[in-house]
Amino acid sequence: MSSSSEYPQALAAVISALERLPGIGRRTAERLTLALLDWPEETLSEFGQRLARLRTDVRTCEVCGNLADGERCRICRDASRDQAAICVVEEATQIPTIERSGCYHGLYHVLGGRLEPLAGTGPEELNLDALRQRIAEGQVTELILATGSDVEGEATAAFLADELGGHGLNISRIASGIPVGADLSYADSATVAMAINRRRPVR
Ligand SMILES: [Zn+2]
Repeated sequence: MSSSSEYPQALAAVISALERLPGIGRRTAERLTLALLDWPEETLSEFGQRLARLRTDVRTCEVCGNLADGERCRICRDASRDQAAICVVEEATQIPTIERSGCYHGLYHVLGGRLEPLAGTGPEELNLDALRQRIAEGQVTELILATGSDVEGEATAAFLADELGGHGLNISRIASGIPVGADLSYADSATVAMAINRRRPVR
């Protein structure tokens, strides 16, 4: 990149890579890269290997779609979790936020997006078959819809309630403590705890 030409190529390459991350501007990318340059060679090379392992070692849980070390995620492997409740989220990145709130002990299901007809995301694009299958297995009695509180998130929740209602399922929607349009991934734990504790039945 020509804008990085005041630095040696190897430095400039790392700066432009870091700059692509959310929330990292040019100045921060430069500061971080120069800090990395001070690391001992061994530490730096181990860091590089860790980055490479992100792609090879992080898997998608075959049950719920969460990020996992192996075939199943930590939560699906944990028999002490409430096997009767599933909290449906848009993205796996929302799970740690809910976990940190400490107020939910059931399982999760990651949709991998939300309904966005204008962007071409219909029900077929979401991880719905696996969810239907989990419900059909009959152990689940409660479904908590934790999709976003913006228009698309609400539409997705309404669709899910229609689609999955019946089966004797208790379906509830998290309270709108999450600011409208805000991503659950970045909400604080207290807000998330309130949103889950004040969930209301959908039908
Ligand atoms: Zn899982």
